[in-house]
Amino acid sequence: MTKMITLRVDQSFLADLKRGYPLILKEAVVNTDMLREEGELIRLVDRANRYLATGYYGNQNKGIGWVLTTKEHEEIDGAFFKTKLKNALDHRADFFEDSQTTAFRVFNGEGDGIGGLTIDYFDGYYMVSWYSDGIYSFKQYIYDALAELVEFKAIYEKKRFDTKGQYIEQNDFVMGEPGDFPIIIKENGMNFAVNLNDGAMTGIFLDQRDVRRTIRDYYAEDTNMLNTFSYTGAFSVAAALGGAKETTSVDLAKRSLAKTIEQFSVNGIDYEAQNIKVMDVFDYFKYAVRHNMKYDLVVLDPPSFARSKKMTFSTAKDYPKLLMDAIAITEKNGIIVASTNNASFGMKKFKTFIDKAFKDSNTRYKIVEQSSLPKDFRANRDFPEFNYLKVVFIKKLNK
Ligand code: SAH
Repeated sequence: MTKMITLRVDQSFLADLKRGYPLILKEAVVNTDMLREEGELIRLVDRANRYLATGYYGNQNKGIGWVLTTKEHEEIDGAFFKTKLKNALDHRADFFEDSQTTAFRVFNGEGDGIGGLTIDYFDGYYMVSWYSDGIYSFKQYIYDALAELVEFKAIYEKKRFDTKGQYIEQNDFVMGEPGDFPIIIKENGMNFAVNLNDGAMTGIFLDQRDVRRTIRDYYAEDTNMLNTFSYTGAFSVAAALGGAKETTSVDLAKRSLAKTIEQFSVNGIDYEAQNIKVMDVFDYFKYAVRHNMKYDLVVLDPPSFARSKKMTFSTAKDYPKLLMDAIAITEKNGIIVASTNNASFGMKKFKTFIDKAFKDSNTRYKIVEQSSLPKDFRANRDFPEFNYLKVVFIKKLNK
């Protein structure tokens, strides 16, 4: 068995831990100086030395590890990891049956009982993401369990734990028959080109699946659509397939142009009939205002933090301003889809940003739809920080 370190939990964090809070916060532990090597097991106890939980040591941006079990005598071994994985797979049985959706999350970190580990499925390929050196030290257990439980074409891995929690560049192939990328996956009948061996990102963010479908099925028809922070243009593809008259995708990164052309093309959409702009979103807003351009449907999906030559943007601080820019170029009765994956604030706070932006723009609005993580992104609903995705569909009304 792996070496076990006993850590004492500060009194003020006991209640949350007992309610099932899975993250071991640095400030929740009194004697972190005991920790030596990532991957070692942690026995959490209270002041009176009473057992609370067993976890592992692994540094991530805000925690030093994750709780694995609250059963004192449960062994953390191959069988433990296999059981967790088996449960997770059972939870996604419907997805495996669905021929129209061939990409989804099969293991969602702490929501499936092991923080710091996610596994995504892409039409027979598995992509395992490791978020700390600590969890990576258990990799043989996970790969063995996967090999026993599923049939796969190949397994790829993303090591997301350099000093700043960034992706570590490498050949991500682990085992199986190497894929011929891009492969084309399906999502509710839409096609997306995916590459599992080309850096940290695959080309598609699976957690926005429900939003893409909602846009395509209910909000896109006959619209002039603007997609900001568009990356590979996945929302634009959904809008075009839903009958948008025209889409405009705006992203600063040069790679976004070729990737957006590719995603339109694999869906049989003529990309030359769409607008794809490689430029700063904030410059685009100014340009649109100058030319009196208006949109019926505007998607806002910024990264939590962005830095360009001219400015820095943080969703927690600047979202109201971003919304005001969008409101100014949205048609009356048009829809703004406001999205954020910033876990540091919840839906309630996000709605105060929306309210402020419309008030400051002297414009009335109505929230017509909202969504959070899809069901394969299993999350503990008692602690909203793990249910990070917030998406609100807002209708712009008269002044
Ligand atoms: N909406 C996308 C995902 C967005 S990821 C999707 O559904 O797939 C965030 C994107 O924002 C990145 O592609 C990044 O290049 C882009 N970005 C960051 N700052 C930007 C800015 N100031 N202007 C335009 N794009 C920006």
